[in-house]
Amino acid sequence: MKKRIVVLGATGSIGESAMRVARELSDKMEVLGLSGKNNVDRLLQLAHEFSEAQLCAGDVPSAEDLIRKLGRPVLHGAEGLESLAELPDADLVMVAIVGTAGLKPALRALGADKDLAVASKEILVMAGELVMETARRSGRRVLPVDSEHNAIFQCLEGQDPSAVKRLILTCSGGPFRNAKSAADLAAVSPEQALRHPTWSMGKKISIDSATLFNKGLEMIEARWLFDIPMEKIDVVIHPQSIVHSMVEFVDGSILAQMSSTDMALPIQYALTYPERFAGPCAPLDLTMVGRLDFESPRADLFPALDLARRAGTAGGTLPAVLNAANEAAVEAFLAGRLSFPGIWQHVARAMDEVPFVEHPTLDQLILADRAAREIVFH
Ligand code: NAD
Ligand code: MG
Repeated sequence: MKKRIVVLGATGSIGESAMRVARELSDKMEVLGLSGKNNVDRLLQLAHEFSEAQLCAGDVPSAEDLIRKLGRPVLHGAEGLESLAELPDADLVMVAIVGTAGLKPALRALGADKDLAVASKEILVMAGELVMETARRSGRRVLPVDSEHNAIFQCLEGQDPSAVKRLILTCSGGPFRNAKSAADLAAVSPEQALRHPTWSMGKKISIDSATLFNKGLEMIEARWLFDIPMEKIDVVIHPQSIVHSMVEFVDGSILAQMSSTDMALPIQYALTYPERFAGPCAPLDLTMVGRLDFESPRADLFPALDLARRAGTAGGTLPAVLNAANEAAVEAFLAGRLSFPGIWQHVARAMDEVPFVEHPTLDQLILADRAAREIVFH
């Protein structure tokens, strides 16, 4: 039987890789739903290719445009995403929307008895406890798409959780890995920050990779996905991006997952779990890679790591505040309204100023998110 999937954020960098997997493994999976924000042309092409899929566009004008061109109904907006997430025949919903717009659809999918494949790390940073609790209650899986977490997920297969000593997230170091001092980072432009050395990704995550907030968000993401305390999560710089992450066990053994630098692999593993198939990911030739390097991150130059550790350790509303302030600050940086160091300075300020709630409800998380954005914008 084919796995029936829905992809939210199908027109993005992760979404396109997911479409590549679905195309290659069309005998294993069927695409029942697709969303994109306002890229009508791309949604139209995908609608022709995956003709069974229901579509959701970002707003009414985009949906009306698509309805005219396709001659069939098209959903739109936040409600449309939630309807796609609950499609009765779907087995799995993948959330690949940048930011937190995928949070409610993700909760709906779990509530409607579907497995969830999560690329949108922001939703796990904002509300990881709630997402994992919803999954536990519904008995459904949360499958990590982020390459580091997918690697850890693979390394943990069949292992006793009590034998895990620590998780080691690898980090390329981003475009400014060789920065020597804070002065080197003060005048970084959006163009420089968008130039990632090993991965080709959407703009927001590219900036996050340059500030190392991406790794900070991933530490918190790992904390919830694997139910492990922050002090057992470490980061090591690995410029080649071949080892996607590692698990150290109490006996001193370290398991690593390696593959080429292509998101198709973790996406495919999440979509076809627990099975493995030959897919579109290019094979890895270690003799071509030649060497694998590892070094410690420069926490003094990149405060994002310590800020994330603090937020993940405190829990409550603090990770949501960190995440929302970062999203707003990245937007301001890309628009030329904020300096590069301004990103972490604003995040730190929001973390100090937004009132802390230790056991927040979803509404309190949404309020904290909003308050953090306002601090950045004012
Ligand atoms: P992207 O900007 O390329 O694509 C984002 C997608 O979300 C697009 O389809 C866009 O139309 C849609 N979208 C954006 N805002 C929306 C909104 N408000 N409502 C509905 N749809 C909206 O981003 P990406 O690089 O593909 O990243 C997506 C997510 O996956 C992010 O959370 C990112 O952190 C995570 N991720 C990405 C990569 C990668 O290699 N790109 C790797 C790991 C994790
Ligand atoms: Mg990652």
